[in-house]
Amino acid sequence: MQTQTDIQSILSEKQLDINRECWEHALHTVTADQVRRELSNPAGKFSPDRLVTLLSPAAEAFLETMAQQGRDLTVQRFGRTIQLYAPLYVSNVCINSCRYCGYNKTTQINRTRLTIEQAVSDAAVIAGEGFKHLLLVSGEDRQFITTDYLCALAGTLREQFSSLSIEIYPMSQDEYTQVFNAGIDGVTLYQETYDRNTYADYHVAGPKADYDSRLDAPDRYASAGMRRIGLGVLLGLADWRIETLAMAEHAAYLMKRYWRSQISFSFPRICPATNVQSEWPHLVSDQNMVQMMLALRLCFSDAGIVLSTREMPDFRDNLMNLCVTRLSAGSKTNPGGYASEKGAAEQFEVADDRSPHEVAKTICSHGYEAVWKDWDASFHSLKGVKSLNPSPQ
Ligand code: SF4
Repeated sequence: MQTQTDIQSILSEKQLDINRECWEHALHTVTADQVRRELSNPAGKFSPDRLVTLLSPAAEAFLETMAQQGRDLTVQRFGRTIQLYAPLYVSNVCINSCRYCGYNKTTQINRTRLTIEQAVSDAAVIAGEGFKHLLLVSGEDRQFITTDYLCALAGTLREQFSSLSIEIYPMSQDEYTQVFNAGIDGVTLYQETYDRNTYADYHVAGPKADYDSRLDAPDRYASAGMRRIGLGVLLGLADWRIETLAMAEHAAYLMKRYWRSQISFSFPRICPATNVQSEWPHLVSDQNMVQMMLALRLCFSDAGIVLSTREMPDFRDNLMNLCVTRLSAGSKTNPGGYASEKGAAEQFEVADDRSPHEVAKTICSHGYEAVWKDWDASFHSLKGVKSLNPSPQ
């Protein structure tokens, strides 16, 4: 398939998927003068050279300027608003063996799958808190979380929620089309790492071991019409600077091809989880994560910047008026966690356990509006929306 070759060859030609040492050299030889010059250029446009400069160790001394520019650009493009969403875990069964995840098939945890009725009960709690954006999350549980399951659940939930997204396993384009037609308009799928060797090391078995199929998934769901494309790398597995360069190339490629969809970047940092290792080779500091977010903002003016409850309250609060556009709140990371006190095992420990109301209040105290809804489900069925993006040739 042509599109596979496209993104694969971009990463391969630029040496962003393997043997990436040349990028270390490029990043570490950027000078303060180069950073200063780059920051005097208009903000918001991507070029690989610009991103290398802004991600470099030399740019760490310019975080204040980057923050100012990032804040201005975000307000200019998104207004003083932050959208709120909630994740709903529907299954923690998984056939993969990701070494960093407590849901991997070898861990001994309480596995739970929500029936449609149970999922609707959890969703009712979330809707009752005011959310209109819902993210359905699952392990790779194709046996239970089928296309039919998702279509049936979406058919019920679309009455209550203005936007439904999924963060599950990669699907075929036909499957994505089916769930899109049922009312799901966004997909988040992290590549985890763009480095092929590191990827192979952490994904030792199961369908997720197929790097290329995962890399190609955004083409499939964008072609199916999905309005929201969520990208991310799991921070802690490989050098964050080079991962950001690779993810940016992926984003630039998708934006060019599926220009009607909105790209957003997420920043999941490795969290403690049950029965997985606790030492990681490339942990990312708060300061580096802020630099990563700002560098991306200053290259992609219209990209969503998403921050989850993996992060501590203070850190999230400090980022509210910098460049963040979407926050989760009140999250439970276990199936059944909203409607039942005794939910199943969590995927990771939530660091910000404030209620959605408290998070919304904090957003307002920063002079921003907490947005529960920015899209109406009725738009989804408008003609033309279905075929927003061209099919890959
Ligand atoms: S990261 Fe996802 S695919 Fe991997 S083990 Fe966890 S739930 Fe399964």
